[in-house]
Amino acid sequence: MEMPKIMVAGFRGLPESEPFITAAENKKNTQTVIDDWMLGPENPSSVPGTNKPYWMKLAKAMQTDEKEARRRRCSNCEYYDNSTMMQANMERIPQNEWDTGAGYRGYCNKFDFICHDMRSCQAWEERDFCED
Ligand code: SF4
Repeated sequence: MEMPKIMVAGFRGLPESEPFITAAENKKNTQTVIDDWMLGPENPSSVPGTNKPYWMKLAKAMQTDEKEARRRRCSNCEYYDNSTMMQANMERIPQNEWDTGAGYRGYCNKFDFICHDMRSCQAWEERDFCED
């Protein structure tokens, strides 16, 4: 008996005809978040204790302590979108210097640019996690 063929849907982003940010807009918005919202650190690391000046400064801005600030990453921010569809969209934007060593890409829906899971910024917001 012939086995039924299984159709696997390919996840694709927006059609090329649909608008998405350009590389220039991504660069401009990245710089705005660096300048105005403390996006960083510039060279992220998962090694505990690294980038202490940055995390202390962000903690102060967040009115929390350094330990808690270090837990608040783009990757658990409510504005971070790393869905497969969004990853496909972001592939339109060539890698740049801010992609190096910063982990995986995600799209920041607050500031419209490509952020990274090892960074953070002052506008970080807790994401709701649903428990069933
Ligand atoms: S708003 Fe959230 S996702 Fe956007 S850069 Fe800041 S921490 Fe990252």
